[in-house]
Amino acid sequence: MAKEFVKDVTSMDEDFAQWYTDVVTKADLIDYSSVRGSMIIRPYGYALWDNIKNELDRRIKETGHENVYMPLFIPESLLQKEKDHVEGFAPEVAWVTHGGSEELAERLVVRPTSEVLFCEHYSNIIHSYRDLPKLYNQWANVVRWEKTTRPFLRTLEFLWQEGHTAHATDEEAMEETIQMLNVYAAICEEILAIPVVKGQKTEKEKFAGAKATFTIESLMHDGKALQSGTSHHFGTGFAEAFNIQYTDKEGKLQYVHQTSWGFTTRIIGALIMVHGDDRGLVIPPKAAPTQVMIVPIAQHKEGVLDFAYDLKKSLSGVARVDIDASDKKPGWKFNEYEMKGIPVRLEVGPKDIENKQVVLVRRDTLEKVIVPLDQLETKLVELLDDIQSNLYNKALNHREERTSVAVTLPELKEKLEAKPGFIKAMWCGELTCEEKIKEETTATSRCIPFEQEQVSETCVCCGKEADKMVYWAKAY
Ligand SMILES: [Zn+2]
Repeated sequence: MAKEFVKDVTSMDEDFAQWYTDVVTKADLIDYSSVRGSMIIRPYGYALWDNIKNELDRRIKETGHENVYMPLFIPESLLQKEKDHVEGFAPEVAWVTHGGSEELAERLVVRPTSEVLFCEHYSNIIHSYRDLPKLYNQWANVVRWEKTTRPFLRTLEFLWQEGHTAHATDEEAMEETIQMLNVYAAICEEILAIPVVKGQKTEKEKFAGAKATFTIESLMHDGKALQSGTSHHFGTGFAEAFNIQYTDKEGKLQYVHQTSWGFTTRIIGALIMVHGDDRGLVIPPKAAPTQVMIVPIAQHKEGVLDFAYDLKKSLSGVARVDIDASDKKPGWKFNEYEMKGIPVRLEVGPKDIENKQVVLVRRDTLEKVIVPLDQLETKLVELLDDIQSNLYNKALNHREERTSVAVTLPELKEKLEAKPGFIKAMWCGELTCEEKIKEETTATSRCIPFEQEQVSETCVCCGKEADKMVYWAKAY
Protein backbone atom coordinates (compact mmCIF):
# COMPACT_ATOMS: atom_id res chain seq x y z
CA MET A 1 0.00 0.00 0.00
CA ALA A 2 2.78 2.42 0.89
CA LYS A 3 4.10 1.97 -2.62
CA GLU A 4 1.85 4.65 -4.10
CA PHE A 5 3.51 7.32 -1.99
CA VAL A 6 6.99 6.67 -3.34
CA LYS A 7 6.24 6.68 -7.04
CA ASP A 8 8.11 9.96 -7.42
CA VAL A 9 11.52 8.47 -6.68
CA THR A 10 13.20 6.72 -9.58
CA SER A 11 14.21 3.16 -8.73
CA MET A 12 17.93 2.79 -7.92
CA ASP A 13 18.39 -0.13 -10.26
CA GLU A 14 16.68 1.67 -13.11
CA ASP A 15 18.74 4.86 -12.99
CA PHE A 16 21.06 5.37 -10.03
CA ALA A 17 22.02 8.94 -10.96
CA GLN A 18 18.40 10.00 -11.23
CA TRP A 19 17.57 8.21 -7.98
CA TYR A 20 20.32 10.23 -6.27
CA THR A 21 19.01 13.53 -7.64
CA ASP A 22 15.46 12.62 -6.60
CA VAL A 23 16.54 11.76 -3.07
CA VAL A 24 18.66 14.86 -2.38
CA THR A 25 15.83 17.14 -3.41
CA LYS A 26 12.80 15.18 -2.15
CA ALA A 27 14.35 14.41 1.23
CA ASP A 28 14.76 18.17 1.48
CA LEU A 29 18.55 18.17 1.85
CA ILE A 30 19.24 20.81 -0.80
CA ASP A 31 17.80 23.19 -3.30
CA TYR A 32 19.50 24.42 -6.47
CA SER A 33 20.70 28.00 -6.62
CA SER A 34 20.84 30.30 -9.63
CA VAL A 35 24.60 29.78 -9.95
CA ARG A 36 25.37 26.62 -11.90
CA GLY A 37 26.93 23.97 -9.69
CA SER A 38 26.13 25.71 -6.41
CA MET A 39 23.65 24.34 -3.92
CA ILE A 40 21.60 25.63 -1.05
CA ILE A 41 21.94 23.30 1.91
CA ARG A 42 18.45 23.17 3.44
CA PRO A 43 17.85 22.92 7.23
CA TYR A 44 17.59 19.12 7.17
CA GLY A 45 20.80 18.78 5.15
CA TYR A 46 22.56 21.27 7.37
CA ALA A 47 21.41 19.51 10.56
CA LEU A 48 22.99 16.35 9.18
CA TRP A 49 26.24 18.23 8.43
CA ASP A 50 26.12 19.81 11.89
CA ASN A 51 26.02 16.39 13.54
CA ILE A 52 28.97 15.13 11.50
CA LYS A 53 30.86 18.39 12.03
CA ASN A 54 30.29 18.45 15.80
CA GLU A 55 31.48 14.88 16.21
CA LEU A 56 34.56 15.48 14.05
CA ASP A 57 35.32 18.82 15.71
CA ARG A 58 35.23 17.16 19.12
CA ARG A 59 37.77 14.55 17.98
CA ILE A 60 39.97 17.18 16.30
CA LYS A 61 40.14 19.10 19.58
CA GLU A 62 40.59 15.90 21.60
CA THR A 63 43.76 15.20 19.57
CA GLY A 64 45.19 18.58 20.55
CA HIS A 65 44.25 20.85 17.63
CA GLU A 66 43.01 24.44 17.78
CA ASN A 67 40.52 26.07 15.44
CA VAL A 68 41.54 29.20 13.53
CA TYR A 69 40.15 31.14 10.59
CA MET A 70 42.06 32.19 7.49
CA PRO A 71 40.93 34.77 4.89
CA LEU A 72 38.85 33.85 1.85
CA PHE A 73 41.22 35.51 -0.64
CA ILE A 74 44.72 34.55 -1.68
CA PRO A 75 47.00 36.93 -3.64
CA GLU A 76 48.13 35.40 -6.94
CA SER A 77 51.82 35.73 -6.03
CA LEU A 78 51.30 33.75 -2.83
CA LEU A 79 49.55 30.87 -4.61
CA GLN A 80 52.45 30.67 -7.07
CA LYS A 81 55.13 30.06 -4.46
CA GLU A 82 54.87 26.27 -4.54
CA LYS A 83 55.13 25.08 -8.15
CA ASP A 84 53.33 21.70 -7.99
CA HIS A 85 50.59 23.14 -5.84
CA VAL A 86 49.73 25.98 -8.22
CA GLU A 87 49.83 23.64 -11.23
CA GLY A 88 47.42 21.31 -9.49
CA PHE A 89 44.87 23.97 -8.64
CA ALA A 90 45.23 26.60 -11.39
CA PRO A 91 42.65 25.04 -13.77
CA GLU A 92 39.89 25.29 -11.21
CA VAL A 93 40.42 28.55 -9.34
CA ALA A 94 38.02 31.49 -9.35
CA TRP A 95 39.68 34.89 -9.75
CA VAL A 96 38.77 38.24 -8.26
CA THR A 97 39.95 40.95 -10.65
CA HIS A 98 37.99 44.00 -9.51
CA GLY A 99 37.14 45.71 -6.23
CA GLY A 100 34.04 47.71 -7.01
CA SER A 101 34.81 49.30 -10.37
CA GLU A 102 38.57 49.41 -9.89
CA GLU A 103 40.83 46.79 -11.37
CA LEU A 104 43.06 45.24 -8.70
CA ALA A 105 46.82 45.71 -8.97
CA GLU A 106 47.17 42.02 -8.11
CA ARG A 107 44.50 39.42 -8.84
CA LEU A 108 43.11 37.45 -5.91
CA VAL A 109 42.14 33.80 -5.84
CA VAL A 110 39.08 32.62 -3.93
CA ARG A 111 40.65 29.89 -1.79
CA PRO A 112 40.44 26.41 -3.35
CA THR A 113 42.30 25.20 -0.22
CA SER A 114 44.37 27.17 2.28
CA GLU A 115 47.88 25.64 2.34
CA VAL A 116 49.60 28.80 1.21
CA LEU A 117 47.79 31.00 3.74
CA PHE A 118 48.79 28.70 6.59
CA CYS A 119 52.34 28.55 5.28
CA GLU A 120 52.68 32.31 5.10
CA HIS A 121 51.31 32.59 8.63
CA TYR A 122 53.56 29.81 9.96
CA SER A 123 56.63 31.49 8.47
CA ASN A 124 55.75 34.54 10.60
CA ILE A 125 54.98 32.80 13.89
CA ILE A 126 57.37 29.83 13.99
CA HIS A 127 60.92 30.70 15.09
CA SER A 128 62.13 28.19 17.63
CA TYR A 129 61.65 24.50 18.46
CA ARG A 130 59.59 25.84 21.38
CA ASP A 131 56.96 27.03 18.85
CA LEU A 132 56.37 23.46 17.64
CA PRO A 133 54.22 21.61 16.97
CA LYS A 134 51.58 23.95 15.56
CA LEU A 135 48.29 22.08 15.30
CA TYR A 136 45.70 24.26 13.54
CA ASN A 137 42.38 23.46 11.94
CA GLN A 138 39.84 25.61 10.16
CA TRP A 139 36.18 25.08 9.27
CA ALA A 140 35.49 26.95 6.06
CA ASN A 141 34.06 27.01 2.57
CA VAL A 142 36.27 26.62 -0.49
CA VAL A 143 35.67 27.19 -4.19
CA ARG A 144 36.75 25.00 -7.10
CA TRP A 145 35.47 25.80 -10.57
CA GLU A 146 34.32 22.29 -11.51
CA LYS A 147 33.04 21.56 -15.02
CA THR A 148 30.52 18.88 -14.10
CA THR A 149 28.78 19.17 -10.78
CA ARG A 150 26.42 17.13 -8.60
CA PRO A 151 24.94 18.05 -5.21
CA PHE A 152 27.36 17.20 -2.36
CA LEU A 153 29.65 15.12 -4.61
CA ARG A 154 31.11 17.93 -6.69
CA THR A 155 29.99 21.53 -6.30
CA LEU A 156 31.64 24.87 -7.07
CA GLU A 157 31.62 25.70 -3.39
CA PHE A 158 31.70 23.21 -0.55
CA LEU A 159 32.11 23.15 3.22
CA TRP A 160 34.92 21.34 4.95
CA GLN A 161 37.56 21.40 7.60
CA GLU A 162 41.23 21.61 6.71
CA GLY A 163 43.86 20.79 9.28
CA HIS A 164 47.36 22.23 8.83
CA THR A 165 50.17 21.27 11.14
CA ALA A 166 53.88 21.95 11.48
CA HIS A 167 56.30 19.62 13.29
CA ALA A 168 59.97 19.44 14.22
CA THR A 169 60.56 16.02 12.66
CA ASP A 170 59.47 13.91 9.73
CA GLU A 171 58.37 11.09 12.08
CA GLU A 172 56.09 13.40 14.05
CA ALA A 173 54.50 14.69 10.84
CA MET A 174 53.99 11.12 9.65
CA GLU A 175 52.37 10.14 12.95
CA GLU A 176 50.03 13.13 12.68
CA THR A 177 49.09 12.26 9.09
CA ILE A 178 48.11 8.72 10.06
CA GLN A 179 46.42 9.79 13.29
CA MET A 180 44.05 12.10 11.40
CA LEU A 181 43.37 9.48 8.72
CA ASN A 182 42.31 7.19 11.58
CA VAL A 183 40.05 9.91 13.01
CA TYR A 184 38.32 10.18 9.61
CA ALA A 185 37.98 6.41 9.36
CA ALA A 186 36.42 6.29 12.82
CA ILE A 187 33.87 9.00 11.94
CA CYS A 188 32.91 7.04 8.82
CA GLU A 189 32.70 3.66 10.51
CA GLU A 190 31.35 4.56 13.97
CA ILE A 191 29.03 7.47 13.17
CA LEU A 192 28.12 7.10 9.50
CA ALA A 193 28.23 3.28 9.39
CA ILE A 194 30.36 3.45 6.24
CA PRO A 195 33.19 0.89 6.08
CA VAL A 196 36.39 2.29 4.57
CA VAL A 197 39.61 1.01 3.05
CA LYS A 198 42.66 2.87 4.37
CA GLY A 199 45.68 3.28 2.18
CA GLN A 200 48.13 5.46 0.31
CA LYS A 201 47.49 7.25 -2.99
CA THR A 202 49.82 6.56 -5.89
CA GLU A 203 52.17 9.34 -7.10
CA LYS A 204 49.69 10.12 -9.86
CA GLU A 205 46.72 10.52 -7.52
CA LYS A 206 48.44 12.30 -4.63
CA PHE A 207 47.73 15.90 -3.60
CA ALA A 208 49.49 18.68 -5.51
CA GLY A 209 52.65 19.47 -3.55
CA ALA A 210 52.48 16.56 -1.10
CA LYS A 211 55.20 14.02 -0.41
CA ALA A 212 52.55 11.36 0.31
CA THR A 213 48.75 11.31 0.41
CA PHE A 214 46.71 8.86 2.45
CA THR A 215 43.04 8.20 1.86
CA ILE A 216 39.96 6.41 3.06
CA GLU A 217 37.91 4.93 0.21
CA SER A 218 34.34 3.73 0.46
CA LEU A 219 32.13 1.84 -1.98
CA MET A 220 28.74 3.16 -3.05
CA HIS A 221 25.65 1.06 -3.75
CA ASP A 222 26.25 1.23 -7.52
CA GLY A 223 29.79 -0.14 -7.17
CA LYS A 224 31.62 3.14 -7.67
CA ALA A 225 34.20 4.25 -5.13
CA LEU A 226 34.23 7.55 -3.30
CA GLN A 227 37.30 9.17 -1.77
CA SER A 228 35.95 9.98 1.68
CA GLY A 229 38.78 11.85 3.38
CA THR A 230 42.46 12.52 2.75
CA SER A 231 45.50 13.22 4.88
CA HIS A 232 48.74 14.52 3.39
CA HIS A 233 52.35 14.38 4.50
CA PHE A 234 54.13 17.40 3.01
CA GLY A 235 57.64 16.73 4.19
CA THR A 236 59.58 20.01 3.94
CA GLY A 237 58.43 20.98 0.42
CA PHE A 238 56.13 23.81 1.44
CA ALA A 239 58.46 24.87 4.26
CA GLU A 240 61.26 25.37 1.74
CA ALA A 241 59.04 27.33 -0.65
CA PHE A 242 57.69 29.54 2.15
CA ASN A 243 60.80 29.61 4.29
CA ILE A 244 59.26 28.19 7.44
CA GLN A 245 62.28 27.57 9.65
CA TYR A 246 62.93 27.08 13.33
CA THR A 247 66.04 27.07 15.46
CA ASP A 248 66.56 23.61 16.99
CA LYS A 249 68.00 22.87 20.46
CA GLU A 250 71.54 23.03 19.07
CA GLY A 251 70.87 26.47 17.59
CA LYS A 252 70.75 25.19 14.00
CA LEU A 253 68.14 26.38 11.49
CA GLN A 254 65.77 23.62 10.33
CA TYR A 255 62.76 23.42 8.04
CA VAL A 256 59.47 22.30 9.63
CA HIS A 257 57.68 19.13 8.49
CA GLN A 258 54.06 19.72 7.59
CA THR A 259 50.75 17.92 7.12
CA SER A 260 47.28 18.81 5.95
CA TRP A 261 44.02 16.86 6.05
CA GLY A 262 40.47 17.49 4.91
CA PHE A 263 36.94 16.14 5.31
CA THR A 264 34.05 17.66 3.37
CA THR A 265 30.28 17.85 2.82
CA ARG A 266 30.95 15.27 0.11
CA ILE A 267 30.54 12.66 2.82
CA ILE A 268 26.80 13.36 2.81
CA GLY A 269 26.78 12.12 -0.79
CA ALA A 270 28.46 8.93 0.43
CA LEU A 271 25.94 8.52 3.22
CA ILE A 272 23.09 8.78 0.70
CA MET A 273 24.66 6.36 -1.79
CA VAL A 274 25.79 3.76 0.75
CA HIS A 275 22.58 3.41 2.79
CA GLY A 276 19.72 4.79 0.68
CA ASP A 277 17.01 2.65 -0.94
CA ASP A 278 14.02 3.03 -3.25
CA ARG A 279 12.05 4.77 -0.52
CA GLY A 280 14.72 7.44 -0.07
CA LEU A 281 17.35 8.19 2.54
CA VAL A 282 18.38 5.81 5.30
CA ILE A 283 20.35 7.62 8.01
CA PRO A 284 22.30 5.72 10.67
CA PRO A 285 21.00 6.67 14.15
CA LYS A 286 24.29 8.20 15.32
CA ALA A 287 24.26 10.66 12.42
CA ALA A 288 20.52 11.32 12.34
CA PRO A 289 19.29 14.80 13.34
CA THR A 290 16.03 13.11 14.41
CA GLN A 291 16.30 9.49 15.53
CA VAL A 292 12.66 8.88 16.36
CA MET A 293 9.61 10.49 14.76
CA ILE A 294 6.37 10.14 16.66
CA VAL A 295 3.31 9.89 14.43
CA PRO A 296 0.05 10.07 16.41
CA ILE A 297 -2.79 7.97 14.93
CA ALA A 298 -6.35 9.30 15.11
CA GLN A 299 -4.91 12.33 16.84
CA HIS A 300 -8.26 14.11 16.95
CA LYS A 301 -9.43 11.56 19.56
CA GLU A 302 -9.22 12.74 23.10
CA GLY A 303 -5.95 12.15 24.91
CA VAL A 304 -3.89 10.98 21.90
CA LEU A 305 -1.88 14.17 21.36
CA ASP A 306 -1.28 14.69 25.07
CA PHE A 307 -0.06 11.13 25.32
CA ALA A 308 2.21 11.56 22.28
CA TYR A 309 3.73 14.78 23.66
CA ASP A 310 4.35 13.08 27.01
CA LEU A 311 6.15 10.28 25.18
CA LYS A 312 8.33 12.79 23.34
CA LYS A 313 9.27 14.36 26.65
CA SER A 314 10.02 11.11 28.44
CA LEU A 315 12.04 9.65 25.54
CA SER A 316 14.12 12.77 24.94
CA GLY A 317 16.55 11.57 27.60
CA VAL A 318 17.53 8.53 25.51
CA ALA A 319 17.13 9.71 21.90
CA ARG A 320 16.63 12.70 19.60
CA VAL A 321 12.84 12.60 19.31
CA ASP A 322 10.44 14.70 17.30
CA ILE A 323 6.69 14.61 16.75
CA ASP A 324 4.54 15.41 13.73
CA ALA A 325 1.21 16.63 15.08
CA SER A 326 0.26 18.42 11.86
CA ASP A 327 -3.13 17.67 10.31
CA LYS A 328 -1.56 15.74 7.42
CA LYS A 329 -2.68 12.11 7.07
CA PRO A 330 -0.59 9.41 8.84
CA GLY A 331 0.12 7.81 5.44
CA TRP A 332 1.67 11.05 4.21
CA LYS A 333 3.78 11.26 7.36
CA PHE A 334 4.96 7.64 7.07
CA ASN A 335 6.11 8.33 3.54
CA GLU A 336 7.74 11.64 4.41
CA TYR A 337 9.87 10.27 7.24
CA GLU A 338 10.81 7.18 5.30
CA MET A 339 11.99 9.51 2.54
CA LYS A 340 14.00 11.47 5.10
CA GLY A 341 15.56 8.30 6.44
CA ILE A 342 14.59 8.81 10.08
CA PRO A 343 15.75 5.59 11.80
CA VAL A 344 12.60 4.84 13.84
CA ARG A 345 8.95 5.77 13.49
CA LEU A 346 6.83 5.54 16.63
CA GLU A 347 3.10 5.15 16.05
CA VAL A 348 0.65 5.62 18.87
CA GLY A 349 -3.17 5.70 18.70
CA PRO A 350 -6.19 5.20 21.01
CA LYS A 351 -5.89 1.39 20.96
CA ASP A 352 -2.21 1.47 21.83
CA ILE A 353 -2.90 3.81 24.74
CA GLU A 354 -5.57 1.44 25.97
CA ASN A 355 -3.20 -1.54 25.68
CA LYS A 356 -0.26 0.39 27.20
CA GLN A 357 1.93 -0.09 24.14
CA VAL A 358 3.34 1.66 21.06
CA VAL A 359 4.39 0.51 17.59
CA LEU A 360 8.01 0.99 16.48
CA VAL A 361 8.89 0.76 12.78
CA ARG A 362 12.57 0.64 11.83
CA ARG A 363 13.58 2.41 8.62
CA ASP A 364 16.35 0.01 7.60
CA THR A 365 14.26 -3.19 7.41
CA LEU A 366 10.74 -1.66 7.69
CA GLU A 367 10.02 -4.23 10.42
CA LYS A 368 7.29 -3.37 12.91
CA VAL A 369 7.40 -4.27 16.59
CA ILE A 370 4.87 -3.70 19.33
CA VAL A 371 6.54 -2.60 22.54
CA PRO A 372 4.92 -2.40 26.00
CA LEU A 373 5.25 1.08 27.46
CA ASP A 374 7.17 -0.07 30.51
CA GLN A 375 9.92 -1.46 28.25
CA LEU A 376 9.96 1.36 25.71
CA GLU A 377 13.13 3.20 26.75
CA THR A 378 15.25 0.04 26.90
CA LYS A 379 13.84 -1.37 23.66
CA LEU A 380 14.29 1.90 21.83
CA VAL A 381 17.96 2.21 22.79
CA GLU A 382 18.52 -1.42 21.74
CA LEU A 383 16.73 -0.84 18.47
CA LEU A 384 18.80 2.24 17.59
CA ASP A 385 22.02 0.32 18.34
CA ASP A 386 20.81 -2.57 16.24
CA ILE A 387 19.98 -0.33 13.28
CA GLN A 388 23.40 1.32 13.52
CA SER A 389 25.26 -1.99 13.40
CA ASN A 390 22.92 -3.52 10.85
CA LEU A 391 23.60 -0.64 8.44
CA TYR A 392 27.36 -1.00 8.91
CA ASN A 393 27.25 -4.76 8.37
CA LYS A 394 25.03 -4.42 5.33
CA ALA A 395 27.42 -1.92 3.78
CA LEU A 396 30.40 -4.12 4.65
CA ASN A 397 28.75 -7.19 3.10
CA HIS A 398 27.94 -5.22 -0.01
CA ARG A 399 31.56 -4.09 -0.29
CA GLU A 400 32.90 -7.63 0.21
CA GLU A 401 30.46 -8.98 -2.33
CA ARG A 402 31.56 -6.26 -4.79
CA THR A 403 35.28 -6.80 -4.32
CA SER A 404 37.00 -9.02 -6.92
CA VAL A 405 40.53 -10.07 -7.76
CA ALA A 406 42.00 -9.67 -11.26
CA VAL A 407 45.29 -11.06 -12.57
CA THR A 408 45.25 -9.74 -16.14
CA LEU A 409 43.97 -6.56 -17.75
CA PRO A 410 41.20 -8.28 -19.77
CA GLU A 411 40.08 -9.92 -16.54
CA LEU A 412 40.06 -6.59 -14.72
CA LYS A 413 37.97 -5.08 -17.49
CA GLU A 414 35.56 -7.98 -17.57
CA LYS A 415 35.05 -8.09 -13.80
CA LEU A 416 34.53 -4.34 -13.65
CA GLU A 417 31.72 -4.66 -16.18
CA ALA A 418 30.16 -7.82 -14.78
CA LYS A 419 30.24 -6.72 -11.14
CA PRO A 420 31.15 -3.05 -10.63
CA GLY A 421 33.09 -2.54 -7.41
CA PHE A 422 36.63 -2.72 -6.07
CA ILE A 423 39.11 -4.80 -8.03
CA LYS A 424 42.19 -5.96 -6.16
CA ALA A 425 45.14 -6.35 -8.52
CA MET A 426 48.93 -6.25 -8.38
CA TRP A 427 50.79 -3.24 -9.80
CA CYS A 428 54.44 -2.80 -10.74
CA GLY A 429 54.53 0.85 -9.65
CA GLU A 430 54.93 2.30 -13.17
CA LEU A 431 52.87 5.35 -14.15
CA THR A 432 52.46 4.02 -17.70
CA CYS A 433 50.62 0.94 -16.39
CA GLU A 434 48.39 3.04 -14.15
CA GLU A 435 47.53 5.30 -17.08
CA LYS A 436 46.88 2.40 -19.41
CA ILE A 437 44.50 0.78 -16.93
CA LYS A 438 42.58 4.03 -16.63
CA GLU A 439 42.48 4.50 -20.39
CA GLU A 440 41.21 1.00 -21.10
CA THR A 441 38.82 0.53 -18.20
CA THR A 442 38.08 4.07 -16.85
CA ALA A 443 38.97 2.65 -13.42
CA THR A 444 41.49 4.60 -11.35
CA SER A 445 43.82 3.45 -8.62
CA ARG A 446 41.92 4.19 -5.40
CA CYS A 447 44.73 3.33 -3.01
CA ILE A 448 47.57 1.04 -2.09
CA PRO A 449 45.86 -0.38 1.01
CA PHE A 450 47.72 -0.69 4.32
CA GLU A 451 46.47 -4.27 4.48
CA GLN A 452 48.38 -5.81 1.62
CA GLU A 453 47.76 -9.21 0.00
CA GLN A 454 49.82 -10.89 -2.70
CA VAL A 455 46.91 -11.73 -5.04
CA SER A 456 49.26 -12.70 -7.87
CA GLU A 457 52.97 -12.49 -8.76
CA THR A 458 52.82 -10.02 -11.63
CA CYS A 459 51.50 -6.57 -12.60
CA VAL A 460 47.94 -6.76 -13.88
CA CYS A 461 48.93 -4.54 -16.81
CA CYS A 462 52.48 -5.30 -18.01
CA GLY A 463 53.05 -8.73 -16.48
CA LYS A 464 56.32 -7.69 -14.81
CA GLU A 465 57.01 -8.72 -11.25
CA ALA A 466 54.90 -6.72 -8.79
CA ASP A 467 54.69 -6.51 -5.01
CA LYS A 468 52.06 -3.79 -4.52
CA MET A 469 48.39 -4.67 -4.34
CA VAL A 470 46.13 -1.81 -5.42
CA TYR A 471 42.37 -1.24 -5.14
CA TRP A 472 41.00 -0.15 -8.55
CA ALA A 473 37.51 1.16 -9.19
CA LYS A 474 35.45 3.60 -11.15
CA ALA A 475 35.01 6.56 -8.88
CA TYR A 476 32.91 9.63 -8.14
ZN1 LIG B 1 53.09 -2.78 -14.83
